Amino acid sequence: MKSENPFDNALAQLASITDIVSIDPEYYEILKNPRRQVVVSLPLKLSNGEAVTFTGYRVQHNNARGPYKGGIRYHQNVSLDEVKALSMWMTWKGAVIDIPFGGAKGGVTVDPFKLGMDDLERLTRKYVSTIERDIGPEIDIPAPDLNTNPQTMAWIMNEYSKMHGHNVPACVTGKPIELGGSEGRNAATGRGVAICVREAVKKYLHKDVKDITVAVQGFGNVGSNTVMSLMEMGAKIVAVSDVFGGAKPIGKKYFEQSFDSLQTSALKAGSVSKIPNVQQISNEELLETETDVLVPAALENQITEENASKLRARMVVEAANGPTTSIAGKMLERGGITLIPDILANSGGVLVSYFEWVQNLSRDHWTEEQVNQRLEEKMMHAFNEVVSLAEKENIDQRRAALVLAVRRVVAAMKLSGWH
Ligand code: GLU
Repeated sequence: MKSENPFDNALAQLASITDIVSIDPEYYEILKNPRRQVVVSLPLKLSNGEAVTFTGYRVQHNNARGPYKGGIRYHQNVSLDEVKALSMWMTWKGAVIDIPFGGAKGGVTVDPFKLGMDDLERLTRKYVSTIERDIGPEIDIPAPDLNTNPQTMAWIMNEYSKMHGHNVPACVTGKPIELGGSEGRNAATGRGVAICVREAVKKYLHKDVKDITVAVQGFGNVGSNTVMSLMEMGAKIVAVSDVFGGAKPIGKKYFEQSFDSLQTSALKAGSVSKIPNVQQISNEELLETETDVLVPAALENQITEENASKLRARMVVEAANGPTTSIAGKMLERGGITLIPDILANSGGVLVSYFEWVQNLSRDHWTEEQVNQRLEEKMMHAFNEVVSLAEKENIDQRRAALVLAVRRVVAAMKLSGWH
C-alpha cells in the first residue's frame, strides 16, 4: 500500500482551507511548524542483558489555547514526521471540541510486543525522566495512544511524581481510576465516535442508527469501544478487524452476539479473525465491505488513492488519526461518500482527558453518568457546529472542522500577541 507522509497530509489539509479562512502569513508560518520538537535517546539494558537505544519524541505544536495535550504511542514505525502530524491534529482536535488545550504528541519507536512488562516499564520511566522538564499539569499533559494504556499512564504519573516529591495526578490523563483516572475515559473515544456515527447517519443518510450497518477496522481501545457503543445503540456490525486480519459473521448479515461475548471470544482466540464460526477476511476486504458506514479505527494511511475508489461504504467516520490520505479524501468527496473527520469524530478521548484533568486539579471525582452526559453534550455541540459551518460555507466536513479549529487557534494567538 502506497503511504503518504502524515505530516505532508496535515500540511495539505491546512493549505486546503486558506481560501476560506484568510490566515495572516505570519500565523500560517507559525501553524505550519510545531513550536517545539523534542527528540531523545533512551538507552536501556533489557532484562535479557541486551543494550538497546530507543528513540523517543515529544512534539508540541501549539499552546495558544492552553497547555499542550496529546497521547504517547509505542510503535515500531513511529517517526518524527508522524508525531509532528499527530501533534498538529491534536491542536485542531482540542479547538474543535473546544477545550482549553493546545496540541502535542509523543512516541517511542519500539515494538512493545517484543518487550516484557518489566522492560516496558523501565522504558516508560526512562522516557518520562528524560522529558520531565517538557511535561507537567500546566505545560504538556500526555495520555494513552496506540499501544499505551492506563498502566503506562500509571508509570508516567509515578515517575513524574517521584521527581517532584509529591503525587501529581494531573500530569497525565487516561490513568487507572484508582490513581485519579476518570470514569468513562477508557471508552470515551469510541463512545464519541459512535455519537458522531449516530448523528451523521441521521443528518446525511436520513437513517436511524438502529437501521445502519457498520464495518470497523481496528479492535484496539478505539475500535472495540466504537463497536461496543454502536452495538448498544442498535447498529448492525457487519465486519471487524484487528492487526491479524478481519472477520465477518458466517451465514448472517451481522454479528448477533453481544459485544462482551464478541470481545471474550476474540481474547480467547487471540484475534477477531480467529473467532470460531467467522469468515476470515483480509484488511482490503474489510475496507471494501458494502456497508452504510466504514469506521477506520487503526492507523494512518489506510484509505489511499489505491483503494478509495473501491470503497462500498456510503460514509466514512474517522476514528483513527489521519486514516485517509489527502488524495483519497478528494476521491471520496467526488464519489459522494460523506466523511466525518478525525479531529471531530475521535475528539471524545481528549475531551474526557480534559474532564480527568479538571477532576484532578479540583480533587473531585465525577460519576460515569456525569462524564458521559458531558461527553454527549460537548460532542453534539461540536458536531452541530461543524455541520452548520459546512452548510454555510458549502464545504466538506473535514474542511469545516478545520476552519472552526484554525479560527479559534488564530484568534487566541492574535489576542495574546503571538508574532
Ligand atoms: N491519543 C488520543 C488522541 O489522539 C487522546 C489524547 C489525549 O487524551 O490527550 O486523541
